[in-house]
Order: sequence, then structure tokens, then C-alpha cells
Amino acid sequence: MSAIDKKIIIAVDGFSSCGKSTFAKAIAARLGYIFIDTGAMYRAVTLYALENGAIRSGIVDEEEVCRLLDRIAITFRFNPARGASDIYVNGDLVEGKIRTIEVSNCVSQVSAIPAVRKKLVAMQQEMGRRRGVVMDGRDIGTVVFPDAELKLFMTADPAVRAQRRYDELTAKGQQVTLEEIERNVRERDKADMSRAISPLRQADDAIVLDNSRMTVDEQMEWFLELFGKISSGQ
Ligand code: C5P
Repeated sequence: MSAIDKKIIIAVDGFSSCGKSTFAKAIAARLGYIFIDTGAMYRAVTLYALENGAIRSGIVDEEEVCRLLDRIAITFRFNPARGASDIYVNGDLVEGKIRTIEVSNCVSQVSAIPAVRKKLVAMQQEMGRRRGVVMDGRDIGTVVFPDAELKLFMTADPAVRAQRRYDELTAKGQQVTLEEIERNVRERDKADMSRAISPLRQADDAIVLDNSRMTVDEQMEWFLELFGKISSGQ
């Protein structure tokens, strides 16, 4: 059976702020698949840790985060206005609170905690059990779904990535400087690539997409051509 007949898993991994979520969301809408932003899940745990005293002055108390984990119930609810699911923690909508620079500055430390990854990876595997999902993150093609039928690895020039994230945050009214965004993007990439458990790396069978000089429409065109070839078995 070709990929066009049966629903597959599309893993979208890559560096910070290279437009993975925008791209993954667009692909999912086009194919009628479910889009899952796994970064939002690590951000939600980080936000909860910040709000409940497990992170003070940027220092993450790992034991305290692990203790809090059992009290964190993450759920998603589809928001038609965004064309994607909003994330909730214990029933509270946190979508608007998880993309601040405060959360970005601590999320890589939280995501390196083995118990955090164990809990979130299990949730992600359950969400993708029936296939038909586009999941974006850092370890989807390597750890969460090593058997994903299509794996993409996204990258872009670091300066382009920082500028995009800066534009996104300032458009939302956040007070940030390009310099602190650049630092955050660089530090997160380094931390995500060098952590002991599930580091960010390109799966051997992933296809690289460098979108430094591509518009969203051009990326979609690139993807549809690739998907067409895979579906017809070329
Ligand atoms: O994708 P986003 O930039 O929102 O992810 C935030 C952080 O969550 C990453 O920098 C990384 O530390 C962590 N993450 C992860 N594994 C994933 C997705 C995100 O470790 N699958």
C-alpha cells in the first residue's frame, strides 16, 4: 500500500527557531493529519516548574521538577482559529505563556531531565499510535518514532533563525533584544545537542531541509514534491 492510501508518521526535527512548527502545521493541514508540537510540552512543564518554585533565578532544581511531574496533566484541545491544538496544564490554557524568553531560557535544562523525557515521550508515542500525525521536536525521528515513514531534519542560518524568533516575539508585544534571542537560540542548540539522553541529532534516514532562503510557500512546494515521490514509491 502506498503512503497516500495509508496514514503515516511524519517526524520533523531540527534546530531551535527554524520554523518547524509553522511548517509541520501547514503540512498537517494539507494532508488532513494531526499536528503535535512536542516543544510545547517541554515548555509547559518548564512553565509549571517556574510557577511552582522548582526554578529559582534560572537554576533548575531537578529533584523538585521530578516531584512536581506527577501533578502535571498535559492535554491538547483543537483551536479552529489557530488551526492547531492549544496546550493546557491541569485544565488551564497555557498556550500564550509558554513562548516567553523566561521559559526559553530554562526549557533545555528541564528537557534534559530523564524523568521528564520518559513521561513526555510516552505521551507522544500514545498520541501517534494511530499514525496520521506530523510531530515536531528534537528526537521524534530518533527516539519517539524511529520507525516514522518520513523523517525531515530542518535547519537554517542561525542569524536568520534569531531574526525570525525576534520578529515573532516583538509582534506579540514582548520586550526582547535581538542579542538575547541570538544567545538563547545558540545556547539551546548547544544544550539540546550535547545532553546525555536523546540529544538532538539528524536521524540517518532523515531528509534535510535548509529553509534559510525559502518562503513558507516554497517549503510546501518542496514537501509536496517529496511526498508525491514517496507516495508513488519513486
Ligand atoms: O520546539 P521548541 O523550540 O519550542 O522546543 C523547546 C525546547 O524543548 C527545546 O529547546 C528542547 O530543549 C526541548 N525539546 C526537546 N525534545 C523535543 C522537543 C523540544 O528536548 N522533542
